Amino acid sequence: MDTAKVIAIANQKGGVGKTTTSINVAASLAINGRSTLLVDIDPQANATSGLGVRAKDLVNSVYQCLIHGLDADRAIVKSSLENLSILPATADLAGAEVELVHIEARELALKRTIDQILRHYSYVLLDCPPAFGLLTINAMACASSVLIPMQCEYYAMEGLGRLMASVDRVRRTLNSSLDLEGIVLTMYDSRNTLSKQVADEVRAHFGEKVFKAVIPRNVTLAEAPSYGRPAVLYNASSAGAQAYLELAKELIQHGKESTG
Ligand code: ADP
Ligand code: MG
Repeated sequence: MDTAKVIAIANQKGGVGKTTTSINVAASLAINGRSTLLVDIDPQANATSGLGVRAKDLVNSVYQCLIHGLDADRAIVKSSLENLSILPATADLAGAEVELVHIEARELALKRTIDQILRHYSYVLLDCPPAFGLLTINAMACASSVLIPMQCEYYAMEGLGRLMASVDRVRRTLNSSLDLEGIVLTMYDSRNTLSKQVADEVRAHFGEKVFKAVIPRNVTLAEAPSYGRPAVLYNASSAGAQAYLELAKELIQHGKESTG
């Protein structure tokens, strides 16, 4: 069966690296020849701007798809990178959380949107907002798996139990095939003993589910979005870009292992 693997990049905490991970994993998969779609479902639209797509140039966005049933094809735009397209978000997505409440099967609006286009891609990545609202539920309802970025800081594990419980709830009610793809440690600072302690603690707790690739705190990753480019294009030799390329390789490897 030739259909995309759909990965929701989720964590209800803000600022943990969801968008940075979404953009750079998507770009790394594309660089590895995988046809990839990044879907921005955060009203902050940082994944959209981080790929150099400007809201004022857009006629359609994911909002029209979710709320008005517009075909995804009519909102998807190509990025500057071959093999990478984006279904962009604009600020009006903030209203979707409320408007969705009135729509039938409101948890499945994103599934309806992307089901028709899955066969065009190898990977579809969903950049989720920092909350457990309807948009994140929509993402988990149509995802094959959830990838959780976790910042290497004190309290990193706090809230993780709640996140896992949400994944379980979606698995029981909406999407029985939802997997945990893994946890990726972000903003790791090798000079900081706390970073190492947190990383050790997460690995002790989640073992194999933690990706080997660790994303360092790295200025290129913070800078690249202001140039509208993934770090893996803006400065491919940077430690941050290299770490995301490694992470993408592990993801591709997961796919090979699960299909035998
Ligand atoms: P989220 O989507 O979870 O809110 P972001 O990916 O937007 O998080 O990251 C939050 C902020 O931290 C952004 O300004 C981003 O550029 C920066 N950032 C993310 N990852 C790193 C990193 N590994 N090193 C340095 N800065 C980072
Ligand atoms: Mg974000």
